[in-house]
Amino acid sequence: MISNRLKKLSESATLEMAKKSRELKAKGVDVISLSLGEPDFNTPEKIKAAAKKAINENYSHYTPVPGLLELRKSIVKKLKRDNKIDYHPNQIVTSTGAKQSIANVCLSLINPGDEVILLAPYWVSYLEIIKFCDGKPVIIKSCLKNDFKINAKDIEKNITKKTKLILFNSPCNPSGSVYSKKEIQEIGEMLSKYPNTYIISDEIYEHICFDTKHFSIGRVKKIKDQVITINGVSKGFAMTGWRLGYIGAAQWIADACNKIQGQFTSATSSITQKAVEAAMNIDPSELNDMKQEFQERRNLIIKLLNKIPGIITNKPEGAFYIFCDISSFFGKKYDKYIINNSHDLSIFLLEIANVAIVAGNAFGDENCIRISYATNKVKITEAVTRIEKALNKLSN
Ligand code: PMP
Ligand code: GLU
Repeated sequence: MISNRLKKLSESATLEMAKKSRELKAKGVDVISLSLGEPDFNTPEKIKAAAKKAINENYSHYTPVPGLLELRKSIVKKLKRDNKIDYHPNQIVTSTGAKQSIANVCLSLINPGDEVILLAPYWVSYLEIIKFCDGKPVIIKSCLKNDFKINAKDIEKNITKKTKLILFNSPCNPSGSVYSKKEIQEIGEMLSKYPNTYIISDEIYEHICFDTKHFSIGRVKKIKDQVITINGVSKGFAMTGWRLGYIGAAQWIADACNKIQGQFTSATSSITQKAVEAAMNIDPSELNDMKQEFQERRNLIIKLLNKIPGIITNKPEGAFYIFCDISSFFGKKYDKYIINNSHDLSIFLLEIANVAIVAGNAFGDENCIRISYATNKVKITEAVTRIEKALNKLSN
């Protein structure tokens, strides 16, 4: 019998959908997968060359638990250069992906019953990690009309003596929303009144921002020690499989994460660490082509989706997702399919349109679905055409 602790944990909805579409593909079905948040680009050559060099130079040993010093120094430089935040290398802990970084911080900070504020729609794993830590999720909902954002005042209304942590993500997965400098400064000012409340700033999509510029909340001086800046290389450098994420945080939080990691994973791969050191030295301007391509895909998918009656979209300013409202299809039917919620619609689209997307309920918003546009324009066009045809089959 599995432990009670594990019974509380749900399977990751994003990875589950990716698995389902892989299974259908293996059966010969031509599935277009717009479910997983994974860039379709290759890792830049400079980074691959650094990894090959590391293999040749026998970087094959255990590294220090938080990562090689030269890697942490390169992260310190990057955080100063791009985010204007000062950390010492000892305040940096690298892990096996930002996902592990988030888990480390939550395990380090949350006591049973502590309240943790989540801004919905939120990334699937946040809720599960909080539950795993016996935290009490306090969910504040936003909606498409507000561009899926929540302002400082609404966050403050939910802060109590028990609020230990807030999970903040800009650009946001799944909504693609990017908070402006002003909005973030207001949240920072507000938080300075609550020194026992911490904030995880998950900046994994930092390099995929279109018209609104990314701003790190760790820049707000008054709350610097309350902020845990989390980032990684999966999205910005197309390195999902390499597995490296990192935190910059107050020394005691970094020490706590080290302690956990020292018992659980030791450190991430030594070869990956050397590759990421090279990635950190890449100037963000070198990533402009990728950003430009994502922006064009975003414009395309908005244009195509807006032609489908019943789908409502906003204009995501970053990441590579569109989170659209599909609630007008609730109550409709086709063959054995009855659409009562976003999950029903995701199964219908997978089986009838052969397009994999993720149901909004996994992100805390039942009225929406998340479509990842991290794939080429031909596939995006074909996928939306198929979605439209399938939706046309639904009737009352
Ligand atoms: N945060 C968000 C918002 C994400 O979408 C993801 C998806 N990968 C992660 C963290 C985890 O990234 P990593 O691959 O570095 O574990
Ligand atoms: N973060 C990506 C997503 O939301 C990858 C899958 C995952 O890590 O859960 O699709």
